[in-house]
Amino acid sequence: MSKQTHAFQAEVAQLLHLVTHSLYSNQEIFLREMISNASDACDKLRFEALNNSALFEDAPELQVRLSFDKTAKTLTITDNGIGMTAQEAIDHLGTIAKSGTKDFVSKLSGDQKSDAQLIGQFGVGFYSGFIVADKITVETRRAGAASAEGVRWISGGTGDFEVETIARAERGTSVVLHLREEALDYANTWKLKEIVGKYSDHISLPILMEKEEWKDGELIEPNNEEGGRQPGGMVKTGEWETINKASALWTRPKKDITDEQYADFYKQISRDFEAPLTWTHNRVEGSTEYTQLLYIPSKAPQDLWNRDKKAGIKLYVKRVFIMDEAEALMPSYLRFVKGVVDSADLPLNVSRELLQESRDVKAIREGCTKRVLSMLEDLAKHDKAPAATEGVTDVLSDEDKAKLGQYTKFYAEFGAVLKEGLGEDFGNQARLSKLLRFASSTHDNVSVSFADYKARMKDGQDAIYYITADTLAAAKNSPQLEVFKKKGIEVLLMTDRVDEWALNFVNEFDGTPLQSVAKGAFDLGKLQDEEEKKATEDAAETFKPMLAKLKEALKDKAEDVRVTSRLVDSPACLVVTDDGMSMQLARMLKQAGQSAPDVKPVLEVNPEHALVKKLDGSVHFHDLAHILFDQALLAEGGLPADPAAYVKRVNALLS
Ligand code: ADP
Repeated sequence: MSKQTHAFQAEVAQLLHLVTHSLYSNQEIFLREMISNASDACDKLRFEALNNSALFEDAPELQVRLSFDKTAKTLTITDNGIGMTAQEAIDHLGTIAKSGTKDFVSKLSGDQKSDAQLIGQFGVGFYSGFIVADKITVETRRAGAASAEGVRWISGGTGDFEVETIARAERGTSVVLHLREEALDYANTWKLKEIVGKYSDHISLPILMEKEEWKDGELIEPNNEEGGRQPGGMVKTGEWETINKASALWTRPKKDITDEQYADFYKQISRDFEAPLTWTHNRVEGSTEYTQLLYIPSKAPQDLWNRDKKAGIKLYVKRVFIMDEAEALMPSYLRFVKGVVDSADLPLNVSRELLQESRDVKAIREGCTKRVLSMLEDLAKHDKAPAATEGVTDVLSDEDKAKLGQYTKFYAEFGAVLKEGLGEDFGNQARLSKLLRFASSTHDNVSVSFADYKARMKDGQDAIYYITADTLAAAKNSPQLEVFKKKGIEVLLMTDRVDEWALNFVNEFDGTPLQSVAKGAFDLGKLQDEEEKKATEDAAETFKPMLAKLKEALKDKAEDVRVTSRLVDSPACLVVTDDGMSMQLARMLKQAGQSAPDVKPVLEVNPEHALVKKLDGSVHFHDLAHILFDQALLAEGGLPADPAAYVKRVNALLS
């Protein structure tokens, strides 16, 4: 194939523009990306070679080599991994195939600082080479292809790239970065070693650099910059040395791994900038043997809500990389967990389909789920200093001190996803329930657990009361809460979209039923005295004819009309039947374009309210009835079916 010019896909061009025009505080991530691609390429070769060992050709030892040429101003990253065919080079180095990345490009704000931050989070992979290079030459040959079938790919990182066929004896890929003037620092052994140590120490593949020597034969010492030694300067020796640890971190004993190393490894596998919130590392022995190293990130990713997003677990079998995003190893509601599972039992040629069926995998998944839950329980337990030591944190161990506030942080990022587990993982429902936190009518912060709530329950209270609403304000000021406030009974406020759905699966906590304050007839049980109950019964009797009239007037809107003692200041509110779908959920489903039954609520009126007292005998009875209903709907976040009619009725009365 002679030289061909191809245009970059529009998104790539946009990305490249940003990459080359942003100021980076951490330019050096380009090397991590290059090494990570080289390492992936070696993993892929190792995997394909399981069924075709000829692919190793004569070089079974997979490795990455870094080299630079100060005169030519180049830095080269060479791997002997899978390589690329011409078509693969055109496809993979000219487009953005990853689904998330398109989404990412659309999120760019134009503000360089925050966009550069975003790039770091997503990791722009190969294209990050243009942070330091104004031209990139890639020379590659696919493992197994003839040496005449090498490929050269060249681009200046603007609109297009060139591809041509070349002869290439070695399998694999060399990426030659033609360094920008201001990036010449990277053509330096000491600097490269430092960056590799920082980002790529735990790549299980050896990263090699040519050894350098002082001209008089004295070896360079680590951490000693080139200057300040003998005038002869450094010369290459022709001998290559491994500059990273090259042992998979998770296979090392826990006690030999520092927190910093754990955090670096996390950044490497997750491409996250920030350190993880916490992690767990264990060797599990028993019917199935495996090592797990699981991390909880500090921040939720942009696409957390995409339920199709695969789990962040990499599967290895006996240290051989098998696949990314092994969704069979983690339930969907824990899709934010990142990490590595290395199994000793699974066959090396395991496929995604096989994973779904394997009993070993099922055991690993259960084991990983339990581990993550214990990790969260531990954070939850140490989130606040124990009451007795409040303020005197000195009595806490350093380890415990580090955990203060961590669960609150976790919950703010991932709490809502965790709730999906209530409906997904019945086996762990009880444990999950204990991990939930809510705001309440007496606590604005999302910090109240069911257990906290129970501990504060009033004498005689026999249910955990909650309300669901679209916003915290709507929940807090809802008419349904009036009597609870008056009596000083706490009500949990649930405002996550997933709450209503999730609570369908939980009827009780530790023997105490959960009761929505907007569902079913009002019954506070022992919390109401006889006198109050009698007053409501009497009111029901007195208002009987009026209620019948109201019911008739509102027969298209309300299922029933009755008096209630749940209101104090408001004239009316809406409730649904005990097993009915809440008005809020029905609204949410409709907004999402899904079919939802038309919920016909019950209108409850406050017999003590002046407006209700005035209703009977009013010449405006019909209009007032409708206004009462529509206002109740507004108060709980809904909209009247015919807003114009509502406005007309109110205006008629006002004038
Ligand atoms: P990602 O690695 O996240 O898929 P990149 O932009 O870094 O995205 O790379 C795009 C694709 O180019 C890779 O998925 C791979 O197919 C190919 N590629 C990049 N570097 C190499 C390499 N050193 N060897 C083989 N293929 C590579």
